[in-house]
Formats: sequence, structure tokens, C-alpha cells
Amino acid sequence: MTIGGKPVTTAETFEVINPATGGVAGLCPSGGEAEVNAAVAAAKAAYASWSRTPDEVRRQACSDIARVLGENAEELAVLLTSEQGKPLGGLGSRFELGGCGAWAGNTAALDLPVEVVKDDNEGRIEVHRKPLGVVASITPWNWPLMIAIWHIAPAIRVGNTVVIKPSPYTPLSTLRMVELLNTVLPEGVLNVVTGPDSIGPVLTGHPDVAKVTFTGSTETGRKVMSSAAETLKRLTLELGGNDAGIVLPDADPARIAQGIFWGAFINNGQTCAALKRLYVHDSIYDDVCSELAKFAQSVPVGDGMAEGSQLGPVQNAMQYAKVVELVEDAKAQGARVLLGGEAPAGDGYFYPITLIADVTDGMRIVDEEQFGPALPIIRYDDIEDVLARANASSMGLGGSVWSSDLQKARDVALRLESGSAWINAHGGLNPNAPFGGVKQSGIGTEFGVEGLKEFTCIQTLHC
Ligand code: NAD
Repeated sequence: MTIGGKPVTTAETFEVINPATGGVAGLCPSGGEAEVNAAVAAAKAAYASWSRTPDEVRRQACSDIARVLGENAEELAVLLTSEQGKPLGGLGSRFELGGCGAWAGNTAALDLPVEVVKDDNEGRIEVHRKPLGVVASITPWNWPLMIAIWHIAPAIRVGNTVVIKPSPYTPLSTLRMVELLNTVLPEGVLNVVTGPDSIGPVLTGHPDVAKVTFTGSTETGRKVMSSAAETLKRLTLELGGNDAGIVLPDADPARIAQGIFWGAFINNGQTCAALKRLYVHDSIYDDVCSELAKFAQSVPVGDGMAEGSQLGPVQNAMQYAKVVELVEDAKAQGARVLLGGEAPAGDGYFYPITLIADVTDGMRIVDEEQFGPALPIIRYDDIEDVLARANASSMGLGGSVWSSDLQKARDVALRLESGSAWINAHGGLNPNAPFGGVKQSGIGTEFGVEGLKEFTCIQTLHC
């Protein structure tokens, strides 16, 4: 771990599993309350000066972070693949590292100027954006480095200091990344602690933590929210999703198949804003199914370390079991498997790309977040009915509409109850486009100036 700029380890370690082989990818320090307290204390001490550092210095720090990530991208990508499973190529680890650099660089370019709301002969009123203090960052195992940078860069850009706790499934790449970033940051500005899930609440409930930025499941998000109540911590929660895609009758099945596929299967479906339920108009249902199956069959799945792989294994045994359970449940209820659907024998958590037709709302694979390589395809014939079904979820992260008529697609997209909506695409992000969930998909916004504001409080100066 890195605490106060110094390497720290523990006598006890835990094994991190390589999901492609089931073997051990590495041993990780198993921190506890003492390490969390030390990290928060180091971040608190660093905050005294970092919060008063000129803006240009913090802007430079974010540029330096982008540079260090670029210089060490290949090492980090290999480490990430070894513990997360995603392929090095395609939309895998190198792509993730590219995103880290892009987001850090963009954060360097952002501005939060003092706003003047009144300036006349009665007086002047200025709105200043000030840092909050120590930020606790809790990250999941699906995009561990990119999400870490989404938390770290804006937090430190505006003068906070950070303690990050990665998922115990994928801690190694974050440990190394934080070590590297400490070469360009003052000690204590960025600290990392690793350990079992049980250290999460120690960090999120810590009295010296001013804000928690959490990305993970809705269930854990609720616990984080209650642990923040005691000291009224600020919160950003980016939680689960069950994104619907709606294919309108005028869409061209052959043209949309590839976009739908990657919208659903990027990172093996283990993406918060992946397409998780596909609603297709009855008139083109069979064509969309066959075009999707045709494209899916061309995608190579294998060990992420092999250069040709486009998708790797599911990340962990728990998630693998969930995917198997939901697919088996759908099969038992009469769903038609178009592709995949059988867990293969052999090492690692490999599950085939799975397309399931003739499913309905009410089946678990439609109603629950599968977070894996299995897409349910649901038939509809009435637009009002399908919108009601898409919006019936308690989640509201993303959604998409697929059509040859842009105006029609816009009208439908704007009626989706989701924080983001895409037309003829799903899940693409931009560092200046606000991203966040509505309903139980989260609270708050990431990216761009709106995201930066989440790491500040307002001080209104009447002069
Ligand atoms: P998770 O909630 O199990 O774990 C997330 C993190 O929380 C881990 O670091 C874990 O150690 C920690 N944690 C566990 N218990 C805790 C507690 N009581 N207090 C504080 N921290 C605790 O989620 P996961 O399985 O790692 O990730 C999958 C979920 O994350 C999916 O639901 C997915 O949709 C969601 N996700 C959302 C986004 C988004 O931006 N909305 C992005 C990625 C993943």
C-alpha cells in the first residue's frame, strides 16, 4: 500500500485470482482498521497544504498524472489483465489505460472560476468553490483503473486529498498505479489501502472523511449512504444499472448489430452502463436476432493475455455463478437460446457469449442486472407499452434507441428515465459529458465541470 507517500505492507496477505486460469495472480496486503486510520491521517495532514496550493499547481499535477499513466500504460495493462481478465487489446486493458490518461488530461484542462452573481454600487457577491477535505474513494472490479482515475483526478484537481480502497478482486493494478502517481504528487495527497470488504465501512464511516465517492452495487451503495449519515458526508454514488435498448421498427438490423453487440458485451457485460435488456419490435425481431448472432460468432473469446482475444473470462466466481443462475432460470421458463448458454468445462471463469430470445419482463434475466455475457432479447409491438416496460425498473443509469429516423429516436430517448441516453449506440462516454444515474442507479454526477463541482463546497463571499 502507499500511505503518506511511503510503502506499507502487512504480515497478512490474501490471494488475488487470475480469472483466466483460476491460479494466483498475486498476493495483496490485507489492511485493517489501523491502516485505514493511518491513511486518513496522512490524507488529512496533506490536505492542510494541498488545499491551499495554487490552482496551476494542481492543474499541472493532473497533467503529470496523465503523463505517468501514458509512460507506464503497458505495465499497468498487463497487471490489470492478469487480475481482471479483460483482454489486453480490443476494448480491454490498453483501452482502459487510454481512458485513464484521457480523463486525467481532461481534468487538467477544466476550470472552475469564481462566479460573480452581483457587482454594482450596492456591493459585490462572489461564489467560490472550495475543496471539502479527505475524499474516500471506493472502486469496483470491472473497470478498476478507469473508475479510480474518475474519482482521483477531479478530487485532487480542486484541492482534496484521497484515500482509495479498490475491490479485493482487483487491487493489484490500483496499488501499482497509486505507487506510480505518488512519484508526481506530494506525500499524503493520494493514499491506497487494500483489504477485505470489511475495511470499506471503516473508511466510509471515518469521522475525518468529508466525502465518499463510491462506484459499485446499489446494495453496497445503500450501506455507504447510511455510514455517511453520522457526520453528514457528501456523497457521489454511481451504482448498478439495468439499461434498456429499444429497437424501433424502422431500424436496419444489419447496420445496428455491431453497435448493439458492443453496447451489451463490452467488458463481457460487466459494465454499469452496458445494454442489459434489448427490446425489439416484432416486425424485425427475427432479423435482429440473426444479425446479432452472426456478429457475436465472429468475436474471439479467450485468455486476455492472448493478443487476439476480444473478450476474456467473467471476473470472479460469484459473478459467474450469477450469470449461470439467470440463464438457467430463463431456459427453465422456456426461453430460446440463440447462442451460448452452456457453461464449458475447463479452467477459469469462461462463459460463452449468450443471446437469449423469447424472454419476457418478469423473468429474472430481464428484471435483474446480469452483469455478464448474456443478453435477453424481448419482443414488443407498441411503443407506449415498451417505454413503460423500459421505465418500470428501479434503476436508471442509461438507455438507447435504435432507428433510422433521428427525430423519432430523439423523441423516444428523451422519454427514457435514465441519466444518459444514446441513439444508435450504447454506453459511449466523454470526459466532458455529465454521467450519473437516476432513481436507484445513483446520486450525483461525474465528469466535466459538473463532476468537478461535486468535489467542492460553495462559499459565498459578500464584499
Ligand atoms: P460491490 O458493491 O460489491 O463492491 C464495490 C466496492 O465496495 C468494493 O471495493 C468493495 O470492497 C466495497 N465494499 C463492499 N462492502 C462495503 C461496505 N459495506 N462499505 C463500503 N465499501 C464496501 O460492487 P462490485 O461487485 O465490485 O461491482 C459491480 C457493481 O457495480 C454492479 O452493480 C455495477 O453496475 C456497479 N457499477 C456501477 C458503475 C457506475 O458508474 N454506475 C460503474 C461500475 C460498476
